[in-house]
Amino acid sequence: MTKLETMIGRAESIVILGHVNPDGDCVGSSLAVYNYIKEQYDKKVLVCLEAVSEKFSYLAGFEQIQNQPGQEAADLCICLDCSNEERLGAFKVCLDGAKESICIDHHVTNEGYAAENVIDPSSSSTCQVLFTQMEDERISKAVAECLYTGIIHDTGVFRHSNTSAKTMEIAGKLMEKGIDFSTIIDDSFYKKTYLQSQILGRALLESVSFLDKQCIFTVVRKKDMEFYGVDKSDLEGIVDQLRIIEGVECAIFMYEVGIHMYKVSMRSNKKVDVSRIAAYFGGGGHVRAAGCTMSGSFYDVINNLSGHIEKQL
Ligand code: AMP
Ligand code: MN
Ligand code: MN
Repeated sequence: MTKLETMIGRAESIVILGHVNPDGDCVGSSLAVYNYIKEQYDKKVLVCLEAVSEKFSYLAGFEQIQNQPGQEAADLCICLDCSNEERLGAFKVCLDGAKESICIDHHVTNEGYAAENVIDPSSSSTCQVLFTQMEDERISKAVAECLYTGIIHDTGVFRHSNTSAKTMEIAGKLMEKGIDFSTIIDDSFYKKTYLQSQILGRALLESVSFLDKQCIFTVVRKKDMEFYGVDKSDLEGIVDQLRIIEGVECAIFMYEVGIHMYKVSMRSNKKVDVSRIAAYFGGGGHVRAAGCTMSGSFYDVINNLSGHIEKQL
């Protein structure tokens, strides 16, 4: 019995949580556990996340996601892909109220805030960690679709350095469940709306290189988002496009979230540990992909980050 199954077995009511701005790994892992419990156990189960992109609507249980914390305290709270309590956002109350808790994650910066913690920073994704907490024979096609979605999103479809032989082995096992993997990859990862493509083009056009072209950044302001009619979820992928520009070691993408306040995403290729920089500014993440929220003008933000990157180069 894995830690997860033992704790599910002991609980009557369960609440599943992820991080703010839920991404593919967060949504995939949350719905994977949700469907697994629904199929294998007779328990009361709730999945609570901030607004989830429609592109994940093919996942079973998508319609059941609640955008508000539940009223009743649950026996067990399962936190997924969330590196610290603050990133649970408004749903932190569900963790505080629960009798038992387990956190399943892969962030290096996660210090283990739940009662039980299964954290493996060598895993590509929370979905990869989660696979090892489930019984292979009991993983249905619906659960496999959720897990596969999380893995492709956090590995950039098996491109990033977090992809290991183990990741591929698990992805292979999930394929054997009969999932339509090519449609999942195209529809949830590569497909962009016309407006998403336009804002990507604009962000690339306005990007600026610094530190001898080893770094590049771009910024999207509130007024740009209003002009194109896009929200923060439409900006996914911009930083990854910057990272693959020839000669770039470190890519920075930021968008305005308030007056003199920016959400920053960083990606690196070989040298820079961006999780250390993000953690310094109150955020977190992984060695090659991390984020934080910073205040000041965007010149201040770049100046502050630039100092830390230069030290590492
Ligand atoms: P992003 O740049 O938002 O795609 O995030 C890259 C990685 O860093 C993801 O694994 C996030 O979970 C993590 N991350 C982003 N922002 C924060 C933050 N403010 N605090 C902790 N981790 C973060
Ligand atoms: Mn995530
Ligand atoms: Mn993840």
